[in-house]
Amino acid sequence: MDEKLQELLYKVQMAAVDIGNTAAALATSAVRGAEELVETGRQKARLIDLKAEVNLRLREIGELVYGTHTGEPADSEVLFAKLREIDELKSEIAQISGTAAQGEEGEGVQAEICCPNCGAAAQAGDIYCRGCGARL
Ligand SMILES: [Zn+2]
Repeated sequence: MDEKLQELLYKVQMAAVDIGNTAAALATSAVRGAEELVETGRQKARLIDLKAEVNLRLREIGELVYGTHTGEPADSEVLFAKLREIDELKSEIAQISGTAAQGEEGEGVQAEICCPNCGAAAQAGDIYCRGCGARL
């Protein structure tokens, strides 16, 4: 296998792993519920769009790479152009993720609520204490 294609396959694999991680992170944040800041919500929507763009390109790249396997060698310039597009998308994703992470630190502080009655830790959105049932 030529070196360029090996490097390419490695990049595709890494990008796919990263997308898997992000999907898991998005699922986790969805569970965290409706208390997201509007701005964070917008960033997440943008992240999902960007991820979709990356996914689309990965799919195209996958088909090009598969073409190589079935005897239609892919044009490596086309492949690398798509990879560079992914690089750009990913740098935007990283920027937004950085900002979103700062927002989540803030949420983390807010989430540390303790029951005034028994001192048990409560979670953001709880109305009554999970320990003693007192109103928070
Ligand atoms: Zn309590």
